[in-house]
Amino acid sequence: MVIAFVLTATGCGKSYIEPEFMPYVQTFEDATGKPVNLTIRFIKQFNNDNIKAKCWDRVFTRDIEVSEKHWSGMSPSLKEALILHELGHCVLNRGHIKWEDKINAPYNNCPNSVMDPNSVPDWCYEQNRRHYLEEISRI
Ligand SMILES: [Zn+2]
Repeated sequence: MVIAFVLTATGCGKSYIEPEFMPYVQTFEDATGKPVNLTIRFIKQFNNDNIKAKCWDRVFTRDIEVSEKHWSGMSPSLKEALILHELGHCVLNRGHIKWEDKINAPYNNCPNSVMDPNSVPDWCYEQNRRHYLEEISRI
């Protein structure tokens, strides 16, 4: 029991990524060149129902939880933007980049980064996908 606990606590335990997230994780890895070695799983919903997903900073590891309730109603673009955002926190240690910092935003009223604290709107992500993938790869 003790050994099992230590393995889990140090992050040596196997990480698990829900198959549904794999295409977006692959996109992230291709864009950034950073491997994703953490668990990404569904939970039914968060206590605060406005939250779609969260990168948890555990003692020795990090993991991502995604609200199944929100996910089921999201377009592929929103899903990709959401996973990139959380991996930005969990893998790249990136903080939020606020809306006001959209100096180089290619289109008006679109956030400059998927690290915006608010979700990137559907149409923004679709029209600027290349920009967002390029931006997340810059650390
Ligand atoms: Zn965030």
